[in-house]
Amino acid sequence: MIEMRKVDKFYGDFQVLRNIDLTVSRGERIVICGPSGSGKSTLIRCLNQLEEHQAGEIVIDGTMVHANLRGIEDIRREIGMVFQSFNLFGHLTVLENCTLAPMKVRGIGRAEAEATARTILERVHIPEQALKYPVQLSGGQQQRVAIARSLCMNPKIMLFDEPTSALDPEMVGEVLDVMVELAESGMTMIVVTHEMGFARKVADRVIFMDAGEIVEVAPPEQFFTAPRNERTKKFLGQIL
Ligand code: ADP
Ligand code: MG
Repeated sequence: MIEMRKVDKFYGDFQVLRNIDLTVSRGERIVICGPSGSGKSTLIRCLNQLEEHQAGEIVIDGTMVHANLRGIEDIRREIGMVFQSFNLFGHLTVLENCTLAPMKVRGIGRAEAEATARTILERVHIPEQALKYPVQLSGGQQQRVAIARSLCMNPKIMLFDEPTSALDPEMVGEVLDVMVELAESGMTMIVVTHEMGFARKVADRVIFMDAGEIVEVAPPEQFFTAPRNERTKKFLGQIL
C-alpha cells in the first residue's frame, strides 16, 4: 500500500529525512515514535506530498507520487490525515464538517453524504453531536469529529500525527479507543504517537526515528521491552 525507497528530504541545506525505506502492507498498522524534530511529521506529510521529497521513491497503492504528479489530488483523497490540532471548520456544524468534502470533492449528493456522515459519527460514538459546532465540544469529541470527517472520504490509508498530544489526559482514552476500533476494522494506518498502550494493542511494527533516520523497527513487545539500538533505549528511558 505504501512504499518508500531511499527517500531523502531537505529543507534548504538541512536534511530532515535520510534514506528512508519503509514498506507498509494493506491493513498494516505502524506506530512511529522518536524525539521532537526527528522528522516524523515530515515523513508522513511526504506520503501525500504535503511536503516534497528530493530523492528516492514513494509509491502509494501502485502510483509513484511526486510534487508534479498530475492527479496528486486523487491520491490525497485516498489518504485521511488527522493532526494534533483538530483543524475543524469552526463555522460549520459537525455534520457539515463531515459532508463538505464528500459533496464538494467527490460530488456526492447531500442526502447520501449526510447518511454516511451520521453512520460514521455513530462509529466514533458521537451521533448526538451532529448539529453542534466545534466550540461546543470537548477536545476529545473534536478529535473524534476530525477522525469521522476523514473517514467520510472513505480513505484507504489513515495517517495520524500525534492525535492525542493536545488533549487533556482524561480525553486521550476516548480518542485512542476509536483508533483501536479503526485498526481492528482493517484500516491501513500510520500513527505518530508515544502512547505505548496503543502501540502494544494495535501496532504490527513500531518504528523509532532519530535525526531523520529510521533507527529501529520492531514488533511492539520487543520494541518496548528489548530495544536493540542505544538511541532507542535512551529515548524510551526518557518517556517511560
Ligand atoms: P517531528 O515531527 O519528529 O517533531 P518534523 O518533521 O516536524 O519533526 O521536523 C523535523 C525537522 O525539520 C525539525 O528540525 C524541524 O525544525 C525542521 N522543519 C520542519 N518543517 C520545516 C520547514 N517547513 N522548514 C524548515 N525546517 C523545517
Ligand atoms: Mg511532529
